[in-house]
Amino acid sequence: MPKVPAEIKLNEKWCKGCGICIAFCPAKVFTARADGKPVIADPAACTNCGLCELRCPDFAISLGGKAHGE
Ligand code: SF4
Ligand code: SF4
Repeated sequence: MPKVPAEIKLNEKWCKGCGICIAFCPAKVFTARADGKPVIADPAACTNCGLCELRCPDFAISLGGKAHGE
C-alpha cells in the first residue's frame, strides 16, 4: 500500500532537544539545530512510519494526516 508523508507537528515547548527523533527517523527527515531540536528538513521523504512520534520521550511530535498503514 502506498505510504504518504505524515503531517509532522513539533511542539517546541515540549521538545528538549534530545535528538532521538533525528536518530530514529529511517527516512532522515530531520536535521538538528544547534540546540539539538529537530528541523523538519525533508518532509516529503517521510514514510509515515510513526517512529518519531512513538520514540519522543516528551510527546513533542504528533503526526497528522493519514493514520499509520492506511
Ligand atoms: S513518521 Fe517515520 S519517516 Fe516520518 S518523520 Fe517520523 S520517523 Fe521519520
Ligand atoms: S525526540 Fe522529542 S524531545 Fe527529543 S529532540 Fe525529538 S521532538 Fe525533541
